Amino acid sequence: MDCIFCKIIAGEIPSLKIYEDEKVLSFLDIGPVADGHLLIVPKKHYERLDQMSSEDITAVAGVLPRLADALVRATGAEGYNLLQNTGSCAGQVVPHVHFHLIPRVSGDGLGYRWPAKKYPEGKDKEMQQKILSELK
Ligand code: AMP
Ligand code: ZN
Repeated sequence: MDCIFCKIIAGEIPSLKIYEDEKVLSFLDIGPVADGHLLIVPKKHYERLDQMSSEDITAVAGVLPRLADALVRATGAEGYNLLQNTGSCAGQVVPHVHFHLIPRVSGDGLGYRWPAKKYPEGKDKEMQQKILSELK
């Protein structure tokens, strides 16, 4: 398969590995937005988070506290963002699901647009019902 992260997982192209187990690999992002910016990926190829098995997402989630702790201590970060982009509309470039762990300090200049709004009357309950009706 022509997937750059599958090739990294298979050892066909190099990466700077941070963590590996049977189901999960973590390595340094080649284009970091902050020093220590990590990627965490399931070894199984999924394009989207919503396709992942609960076993694989549990394996990824299970390693996050350890990785985040190591990252904070290694970089002196005050915090971090965990970011998952699904779909090109959301910024996904590599079509193998991955989680960014990005160390943050106050004033680092990183950020995102967060145009919070208010629901018009009744729209919040309408959305709740729509989502509940699709929840399997
Ligand atoms: P996204 O925009 O969420 O799909 O993020 C893809 C990320 O993969 C980017 O931050 C890239 O810098 C990173 N990336 C692409 N190729 C490699 C590679 N060979 N090794 C490590 N990171 C990579
Ligand atoms: Zn892949």
